[in-house]
Amino acid sequence: MKNHNRKDWSLPEETKEVLSKRFKDLDESVHLAVFTKKGENDEFNQITQLFVKELSLISEKITVDFHTLGDDIAKKYNITRSPTVMIQPEKYHIWYTGAPFGEEGRSFIDAILMISQNDSRLSQASRKRLAELKEKRHVMVFVTLSCPYCPGQVINGFKAAIERPDLISAECVDASEQMQISEQFNVGAVPHTVINERSISKGLEPEEKFIEELITLEEAELEKTYDDHLAEQKVEVDLIVVGAGPAGLTAGIYGARSGLETVVIEKGNIGGQVAITPVVENWPGFKSIPGQELMEMITAQTKEYVSILENEPIHEIKVGKHIEAITSKRVFQGKALILATGTTHRKIGVNGEESLYGHGVSYCATCDGYLYKNKQVIVVGGGNSALTDALYLHNIGAQVTIVHRRDEFRAEYHLQQSVKQEKIKVAWNSEVKEISGSKQVEKVALVNNQSKETNVVKTDAVFVSIGETPMNQLAGQIGLNLDGSGYVQVDRFGRTNIPRLYASGDITGGVRQIVTAVGEGATAATSAFEDISHPYWQPVQKNDEEIESK
Ligand code: NAP
Repeated sequence: MKNHNRKDWSLPEETKEVLSKRFKDLDESVHLAVFTKKGENDEFNQITQLFVKELSLISEKITVDFHTLGDDIAKKYNITRSPTVMIQPEKYHIWYTGAPFGEEGRSFIDAILMISQNDSRLSQASRKRLAELKEKRHVMVFVTLSCPYCPGQVINGFKAAIERPDLISAECVDASEQMQISEQFNVGAVPHTVINERSISKGLEPEEKFIEELITLEEAELEKTYDDHLAEQKVEVDLIVVGAGPAGLTAGIYGARSGLETVVIEKGNIGGQVAITPVVENWPGFKSIPGQELMEMITAQTKEYVSILENEPIHEIKVGKHIEAITSKRVFQGKALILATGTTHRKIGVNGEESLYGHGVSYCATCDGYLYKNKQVIVVGGGNSALTDALYLHNIGAQVTIVHRRDEFRAEYHLQQSVKQEKIKVAWNSEVKEISGSKQVEKVALVNNQSKETNVVKTDAVFVSIGETPMNQLAGQIGLNLDGSGYVQVDRFGRTNIPRLYASGDITGGVRQIVTAVGEGATAATSAFEDISHPYWQPVQKNDEEIESK
């Protein structure tokens, strides 16, 4: 939805088709109430009105009416910001402050379906815990429309509000549109969750953790939210894939297509690092494609074959005759397991980095960039990610300086040329020594590692993009061989040192590209198939005989 001003705007035909299919699952009618005020966010007001109107034309079970701030209905529900969209206001207290577009289009459609089906979709454990709530709660999830992690946290809030409409209300706030309330709660990264006016958490959380925090109003430890009864539920499959980035999803497709009963389990959101990559320019077949869009296409294809379970962290993997992957909800029992857990952001490790995280320090330009669209920002790093982030931030209007510790970039030639062409400033041979600010980032101390001079530079945000470290906790726990940098060692077929355990994608190190990750996912799944099913063209391995006889 790039042009927010067109009177003749309408949803693309293919989107209408997808929505029309999804709306076949609507049960009860759902009413949408849209509140606007002329002169306040006009471009979003108009497009919001057109968008919800189109939804009502796609399904007769969606009805809509339009109000002006200050009218009786707005007063009845205490709506004071434009635009606001309430869903089923007579029954639930769920609304969007801001336009429900971009990434939030996903949570909006999910919310309509959940409300129509009168189903919060919470786990049994969460329902049980929420039944104990005795006091009112108001959840505000601050988002940006380009943040792929945000809809998951918004849905956490909405699920709770559907389960306990007597006590819980939930609101999704577009932080980049509603700067005043964002500043009030010191929002500097999204998703940022505020409950009863207290900032409780930053980032997407597993459902059980969110519910615990909703009740206690304190940040919860994930371990405390385990439910041992539910972990006794067993799901038997052939192949367990851990991680839903490019490698894990491709492993899912290949596993299922070879005839293995396969499941893909993801601790957070589908898509891995690519989902937060603004633009991908080296995926063959596409000259340029937003990372999120590429992952949506791969995800849709994967879902044709396998279930992908999101927001379900695996706490333990046990290797015996069978392989067990234990989450807080159930135990998956399989014959083989592929680890595709990827990597996480490397930190600089300086004062202020941790305390100002979420208040100007960010590891996700796609998520948080819009909060700094007219401000001064620093991007730290000299690799492909740093330059991609710098270009993205520059393109949305931020004044960017890249801080790099050398006098040349590691990033590919093409990205370097774009940075030059756009005249993005670069502080060469410079390292961040400290990040400071009272509530938000205000300045950084930069040391020139040649002259040893320190400069204090004013900035509103620091985007750290200095590479990755492997997510190897599960690998280490099972005893997989790791290399000196912590990456899982595999042979060229994706096999690890433990039979029937495989690894693929960034967790194995190497060049860490999307194309290599998908190749490795395919290879590991093919190896798993051959090891499990002993096709006639594969000689029986010694390891297989040992396992069979156990
Ligand atoms: P990277 O290639 O490892 O680059 C990390 C950068 O951060 C390097 O310039 C490094 O400096 C710098 N750095 C590391 N530690 C630092 C520290 N403590 N303080 C200051 N600077 C530090 O990481 P990446 O850019 O995140 O890329 C990761 C992988 O993803 C790569 O394989 C990359 O090719 C791939 N990727 C590809 C694309 C694409 O193809 N379009 C986009 C994004 C990522 P030195 O140069 O001095 O080591």
